[in-house]
Amino acid sequence: MRFRVLLHSFKEYAWEPSDEEIAFSVGLDVSRIRRFDLNTSPYTPTHWLRKLASELEFVAVNRYPDTSYRALRKRLSKYMGVSEECFVIANGGDEAFDIISKAFLDAGSEVVISSPSYSMFRIVSELMGARVVYVQRKEGFADDVDSLIKAVNDKTRLIFLCNPNNPTGNAVERSDLLRILNECDVGVVVDEAYQEYGGESFVKLTESYSNLMVVRTFSKAFGLAGARLGYIVACRETTRLLNKVRPPNSVDVITLKLAEFALEDVEWVRLRVRETLAERDRLISEISRLRGVKVYPSVANFFLIEFLERDRDEVYNELLKRGFVLRRLEDPTLRRCLRISVGLPEDNDALLEALRGVL
Ligand code: PMP
Repeated sequence: MRFRVLLHSFKEYAWEPSDEEIAFSVGLDVSRIRRFDLNTSPYTPTHWLRKLASELEFVAVNRYPDTSYRALRKRLSKYMGVSEECFVIANGGDEAFDIISKAFLDAGSEVVISSPSYSMFRIVSELMGARVVYVQRKEGFADDVDSLIKAVNDKTRLIFLCNPNNPTGNAVERSDLLRILNECDVGVVVDEAYQEYGGESFVKLTESYSNLMVVRTFSKAFGLAGARLGYIVACRETTRLLNKVRPPNSVDVITLKLAEFALEDVEWVRLRVRETLAERDRLISEISRLRGVKVYPSVANFFLIEFLERDRDEVYNELLKRGFVLRRLEDPTLRRCLRISVGLPEDNDALLEALRGVL
């Protein structure tokens, strides 16, 4: 039996451990575990679930979903303001990256990533046998457009940008993106997983730039990470080619129902976004007052703190012992940082208290 050679040295996605695993490892009851490491919404859309429950017996689970996902695309078209022909529906943003990599990359292709950023960009690319070229962000984490453009050569097929960027929380500048789109004849992926929280959406630019693909998801502001739904927005021709690659039935009928309720209720999503942003600003202002920390500004539902006087792993472990799970970043430029996802007000209060204690 022979696996692909690249798998032997392949660095896989760092799976987030479950609450149960964490509780066991620190000897706490699972009810004491509070997650600030997942970047998901702390709000469960229980009213959509209740509605689903009342309609559940009419959901045709014995049949495949409509593989063209037409009803969903129609609703998305209204939400995003682009034609329903311009969506590729996927099982989360992660499957969207998988589809894009399969459509663009051969063994030996190159991919340019504005770094640090979301680890799946590297993973989907390397799995296709492509080589990843990292372009370090500038001071304050802005994309280094000159270097990104310089990194493109005749082997380059894709550039990955993230707007707002995970884990740094800053947005992509429109003028930067326009320069890249105008000067590089390669696919430009803009991951807008967190765009409902902040930054400018570049979805409309797909109407004028055939090389732009914007990836979005229901996993963050919509509070549906467990349901698994994402999509790519691109021009008609790019959409047609991407659709050749996607699996026919990767989104289930129950998730499609939830998406229907969600897109009829975007006001609820906007309200939760506003609450999250107010909590983020409160957390940032409180944490900034602590000694020996630097807090980076963010337009998203998470932000970075850098520990100037303490070892960040020590802080991480101290918080973990108390049940607070933050995200440790692996990138060497962020070795003094932890990422915090904004939670519910009472959980944020508890985290602040714990941080004060630890520091
Ligand atoms: N992009 C970014 C930047 C993310 O952080 C995530 C979530 N881990 C995703 C995309 C993908 O999320 P999902 O597959 O749940 O849509």
